[in-house]
Amino acid sequence: MDFDPPACVDLHIHTSASDGTFSPTEILDLASHIQLGAIAITDHDTLDGSRAALTAGIPQRMGFITGVEISAERPALFPGKGSCHILGYRVNLDDRNLNQTLARLQNARKDRNPRILERLQSFGFDLTMDDIQQAAGPKGQLGRPHFAQVMLNKGYVPTFSAAFDDYLATGKPAYVDKYRVECSRAIELIRAAGGIPVLAHPALLGTPGRRLEDSVVLALKEMGLIGIEAYYTEHTPAQREHYLELARKHGLLVTGGSDFHGKFKPRTKLGRGRGNLQVPIDLYHALNSHA
Ligand code: AMP
Ligand code: ZN
Ligand code: FE
Ligand code: FE
Repeated sequence: MDFDPPACVDLHIHTSASDGTFSPTEILDLASHIQLGAIAITDHDTLDGSRAALTAGIPQRMGFITGVEISAERPALFPGKGSCHILGYRVNLDDRNLNQTLARLQNARKDRNPRILERLQSFGFDLTMDDIQQAAGPKGQLGRPHFAQVMLNKGYVPTFSAAFDDYLATGKPAYVDKYRVECSRAIELIRAAGGIPVLAHPALLGTPGRRLEDSVVLALKEMGLIGIEAYYTEHTPAQREHYLELARKHGLLVTGGSDFHGKFKPRTKLGRGRGNLQVPIDLYHALNSHA
């Protein structure tokens, strides 16, 4: 009997170790159920999701690489405004410098959370840090989605998105900035930890027309960037082609993933994005065999 191997992968997944609503074990079960060929867990600023998945045990016939998504500072020279997230794949989970920097990022979140809470309380919302921590679960580090969920549960906002649009999004009244690593440092740390740095969701960098100038790509390559996430839930086919073309032109690896967050982004499905995302398994093999 012919065996038809799974053809698709998902290399951008959040778990309850950051602001996803599925635990790492639940992600492994779901990925196995929908027959993904390989996954990477890429929690914000923590390797705990990847660690927990390895400890739980990866299902047979499913590929797995360690991952993290680092909140980086947008290089000042890049036009536009938007978030600069650097994915780190195949990193050594025990790397000291990487873990130290991640700890600093986690502490920055811990400092920020009471300040977000204070601002929300100043608008008359009856919220406590316990409420927010409960939304994240005992092991999760808090992010804005947890605040949004509690505000929704308590009926303070009509939808999850309204919590961001009216209060939590950048520039809104309950927005509090947090420490981020220099982009070049994030790339350097990932490489020093034996990993592969990849520019996450380039469209969200917020450059004009969501296109990347060659000069931007060259600057990132100069910093040591190895790959670009061309396949992404929120990329249009034209954007994906543009990033694929840039990867070809500049010799970058290509990766892709859904940015699954469970019920915090209910329209985004694991492995499928909004229904038409298909990340070829070759990308996983290329990442895995990169020298
Ligand atoms: P934080 O790590 O606390 O800064 O929160 C970042 C996370 O919040 C992102 O990964 C998204 O999951 C979510 N997020 C950011 N902006 C929005 C928005 N406008 N609407 C919904 N979710 C958002
Ligand atoms: Zn997130
Ligand atoms: Fe991101
Ligand atoms: Fe993400």
